[in-house]
Amino acid sequence: MKNRIKLTEILEAIEFDYVINNDNTLSLHDQLGANLGNIEQDSFLIDANLATLIIDRIETYIKDYYVSDIVETLNICYENASITDSYEKLLVKMQKYPDKFQGSFEFMEALINPELCDISDIIANLSISKKCPRCNGRLYKSSKEDFAYYCPACDEDFYSFEVIGVVICTNELMSRTKQTNIWKNT
Ligand SMILES: [Zn+2]
Repeated sequence: MKNRIKLTEILEAIEFDYVINNDNTLSLHDQLGANLGNIEQDSFLIDANLATLIIDRIETYIKDYYVSDIVETLNICYENASITDSYEKLLVKMQKYPDKFQGSFEFMEALINPELCDISDIIANLSISKKCPRCNGRLYKSSKEDFAYYCPACDEDFYSFEVIGVVICTNELMSRTKQTNIWKNT
């Protein structure tokens, strides 16, 4: 069976993050701050249509960041490709040069059939109910092996035991630590 490309990999390729909102919808975040067409204001329901809707919405970015490079490479091979060509047409031309486009085939296939994108990691993050012990914000699964959670607002990874306690406990602990330090200093 073929590997399914993750929607998050496509977002990474165009330098986007995503945020899960309090109402459990998803919004996009442009890491480079361009926010073309006010894309960050849009929110998407996290369901089976998610990848289709998002890939449609980020088409301009995909063409700028990704397809334009493919077109350039095809033209170096004298394939007379254009950015306005359909993804299907480009893919057929790409298939003549498997070495040149390694890793790009799954990406192009996902653009043609977005419903094939894997969104399981987004669904998994949607189900995380624990909150950040520092800012009380939404936590995501950590991408680092040793850690369980990641808070994008704090840019910090946490062990699972760090977020088991409710926020009040952490605050209490912190104030106790501070008091201890004050006593030490006097
Ligand atoms: Zn945080």
